[in-house]
Amino acid sequence: MPDFEYTIIGAGVVGLAVAAEISGKSRHVVVLEKNDKYGMETSSRNSEVIHAGIYYPPGSLKAVLCIEGRDLLYSICEQNHISHDRCSKLITASNQEELPKLEEIFRRGRENGARLRMLSAQAASELEPNIRTVGAIYSPDTGILSAHELMDYFYHVAIERNATVQPRCEVTGIQKRAGEYEITIREGELESSFTSEKLINAAGLHSDAVAALAGIDIDQAGYRLSFAKGSYFAVRPSKANLVSRLVYPVPQNEGLGVHALRDWGGRLKFGPDVEYLEQGVIDYSVDETKASAFAESIRRILPQITADDLMPDMSGIRPKLQKKGEPPKDFVIRHERDRGLEGFVNLIGIDSPGLTASPAIARHVAGLLE
Ligand SMILES: Cc1cc2nc3c(=O)[nH]c(=O)nc-3n(C[C@H](O)[C@H](O)[C@H](O)COP(=O)(O)OP(=O)(O)OC[C@H]3O[C@@H](n4cnc5c(N)ncnc54)[C@H](O)[C@@H]3O)c2cc1C
Repeated sequence: MPDFEYTIIGAGVVGLAVAAEISGKSRHVVVLEKNDKYGMETSSRNSEVIHAGIYYPPGSLKAVLCIEGRDLLYSICEQNHISHDRCSKLITASNQEELPKLEEIFRRGRENGARLRMLSAQAASELEPNIRTVGAIYSPDTGILSAHELMDYFYHVAIERNATVQPRCEVTGIQKRAGEYEITIREGELESSFTSEKLINAAGLHSDAVAALAGIDIDQAGYRLSFAKGSYFAVRPSKANLVSRLVYPVPQNEGLGVHALRDWGGRLKFGPDVEYLEQGVIDYSVDETKASAFAESIRRILPQITADDLMPDMSGIRPKLQKKGEPPKDFVIRHERDRGLEGFVNLIGIDSPGLTASPAIARHVAGLLE
């Protein structure tokens, strides 16, 4: 008999949500995390926005799991006193040329099931007097939450249900055997192995490498990840009250566009931009010489901002299935049964809205393994 029924690789918000979900059904769940603590990578380096489900192609996993996850998150937050604020969001067109794109986003969002209202320039200015706008989408269900508190919640639920979360434990090998997987782990200098019946790869930026450990040809499968860094700048306190809700531009290229958001310290921040890193490079430094480029893109929505108002803040790295310039791809959440890997689920390319979708992703994964 295998040592564990379920092994989850990676204790970010997704791995922890899956652990919380599955440990309700099985008493033999272990989560392996290579860092000193859970949630030290992408899950703690993001905008902490509860997305309403506006932008994604209807029927895609991103659209469906974002909407389901959004509703689950609000009730999890309310019932468990997790810091959150259904603060709402505007997507503002800053000139007439952007209006057709704004209308397209509106139609898509409505098709996905997001509650939205189209606002005239005057109505948008009444909500946010300082923004540049010729019309905007109002999304009442967009909000913010504390990603750390959410991860603490999933962690404690999993632990209370007898799951084990093992930090400083890196998975370095996966061997399929009859009815089980032999998993090799490294803890400091020590290498050892154990067996598990089912295996869930929630390794974020390293999920393609973990899939390769199980013998999957990640190029043929389309699983090789590119890293797209997103940096943030904070605004000087005297200008921190220019907006009272999240304000986004109409997206131009990749990503949703540099937008205005507030962190839990009450600071107004702008970000994230999109900067593809060299293959495999993880670099969280924020390049202060980007301040002028940031100020320029922010002035599309807030003309009062200059480069002198901005201070480098933090960054996060998105695990992208598409290479630079390619159209966005959907999440990969796949039971690899047809590759001869019964009981093995890969989660690859879980970029935004992965935080919002996390509780819905967890239910989806549990369903795939039932
Ligand atoms: C700049 C930015 C802004 C974003 N903004 C939002 C937003 O506002 N709203 C939203 O919904 N989403 C947002 N996202 C997306 C969201 O942050 C991610 O989708 C989510 O955090 C992914 O969680 P995860 O658990 O899959 O990955 P991670 O948090 O990266 O966790 C994976 C874990 O696996 C561990 N691991 C990797 N390899 C191994 C191994 N071999 N052995 C053991 N452990 C291993 C890692 O150490 C890590 O802890 C944003 C992302 C970025 C980068």
